[in-house]
Amino acid sequence: MVSRIIPVEDFDLVIFGATGDLAHRKILPGLYRRYVAGQIPGTAQIIGAARTQQDDAAFRAEAREAIRKFANKGDDLSQLDDFLNHLGYVAVDARGEGGWDELKSRVRPGVVHAFYFSVAPSLFGDIAQRLADNGIADADSRIVVEKPFGRDLASARELNAVLARHFVEQQIYRIDHYLGKETVQNLMAVRFANMLFEPLWNAQYVDHVQITVAETVGVGGRGEYYDHSGAMRDMVQNHLMQLLCLIAMEPPYHFDPNAVRDEKLKVIRALEPLEPGDIVRGQYQADSDGPGYLQDVGNADSRTESFVALKVRIANWRWTGTPFYLRTGKKLRARTSEIVVTFKAPPHSIFDTENEPRSNQLVIKLQPNEGMDLTVMIKEPGPGGMRLVQVPLDMSFADALGADGTDMPDAYERLIMDVIRGNQTLFMRGDEVEAAWAWTDPIIADWEAGSKRPEPYDAGSSGPEEALRLLHRDNRRWREIRS
Ligand code: NAP
Repeated sequence: MVSRIIPVEDFDLVIFGATGDLAHRKILPGLYRRYVAGQIPGTAQIIGAARTQQDDAAFRAEAREAIRKFANKGDDLSQLDDFLNHLGYVAVDARGEGGWDELKSRVRPGVVHAFYFSVAPSLFGDIAQRLADNGIADADSRIVVEKPFGRDLASARELNAVLARHFVEQQIYRIDHYLGKETVQNLMAVRFANMLFEPLWNAQYVDHVQITVAETVGVGGRGEYYDHSGAMRDMVQNHLMQLLCLIAMEPPYHFDPNAVRDEKLKVIRALEPLEPGDIVRGQYQADSDGPGYLQDVGNADSRTESFVALKVRIANWRWTGTPFYLRTGKKLRARTSEIVVTFKAPPHSIFDTENEPRSNQLVIKLQPNEGMDLTVMIKEPGPGGMRLVQVPLDMSFADALGADGTDMPDAYERLIMDVIRGNQTLFMRGDEVEAAWAWTDPIIADWEAGSKRPEPYDAGSSGPEEALRLLHRDNRRWREIRS
């Protein structure tokens, strides 16, 4: 199977924060890969903007280094010079007046205009205001904003209000890069383009769902930021809740941005408040390889969690009775993101065998390698009588696409091309973000008001013992964390 590349319309993309880490690590390399794939028209412009005073040539040299450094293994770098010819740079300060006239003169009329706000959220309002005041953005322009989208409901509302002064919702693309993964879209295809799963996709047949996002790294150089955030704000409120929504939502009437986002919003609104026994929080401890969380953030009294596990219930007809277990943390055994849908066991076994039929599981792997596995019971091959064995029906996309998977666009590439196409399906709508904060806010407020410390856990483990017990109490087990 060969993937088809459909070029996008001609565009000017302005990247505010083009000298920063995200631009270097993800945005510029991603755009280069789409250029090599033939998706970016030969007339498109990518204009870097930040305070650093430099000219086009210096920015191109910076971009060259960044793309070389952060290219994927196996990327073809032979078109780098051609690509760099599409890059320009204008020095602007989000809070100053210099440079905006020049930016206006660079942006061409009659093509798609996208403005990527790859800067701190505190600058969103200033940039939006200056784009409007200087007549650079118009009613067809698109803006792209990054996480974190607020740190609670009040700040998310404030950010939404700041952007709404100059842009309508159809112009705002809030990135959650988990939604740009091939598997996430495939999850929707598997659910809604097949008869096989949807009839079973409810509390009658699904025993429980697990969503795990595990990292092996600690907080590293982001200690101060992270200590004001924690796993709940940094990962659950956005990435894990978005995945939960896609698993749990009703079929939208059409694969259309608002229809999909309406259904996701209904899931968030149906989440039950958590009971204290449904929550486990943890902090990784020091080991011979490195410091513990408290040393990493330089705050011996910190009560911020580097791990959280939750038992979440959705109060609606489809899901009442099926718990969703969510966990995410740092310094865990392996780097992996996956969703496991465990179906109920067959009600009765007709086989007189030592291996009873086990539950089918659909494992949706988001990283490190994207793909899906469906485990089924079969007869163990051979002449030894009727013995059962569980085997995976493997559907790794690399194999399915007949390539080694390297030409599959990564999440940022796909999402930026969606911005140019004007397709908001894989972006969070303002009311979704606010609803997610409205659910997480009281949970975090309880922690902050209480004196309970997160449970310590060993670096390289699966998290605190208490997180294992969260499932054991329900006679269930987490799927082992492995990459
Ligand atoms: P960063 O490395 O600190 O870069 C910030 C960028 O903003 C720089 O290019 C800086 O350039 C520019 N900037 C700062 N003040 C400015 C001003 N007054 N006017 C114009 N430009 C200004 O940050 P980052 O890691 O790239 O992150 C950017 C945004 O993406 C943040 O909101 C972050 O939370 C989010 N994000 C980042 C990542 C990641 O992997 N890095 C992942 C997810 C989300 P000058 O100093 O030249 O002005």
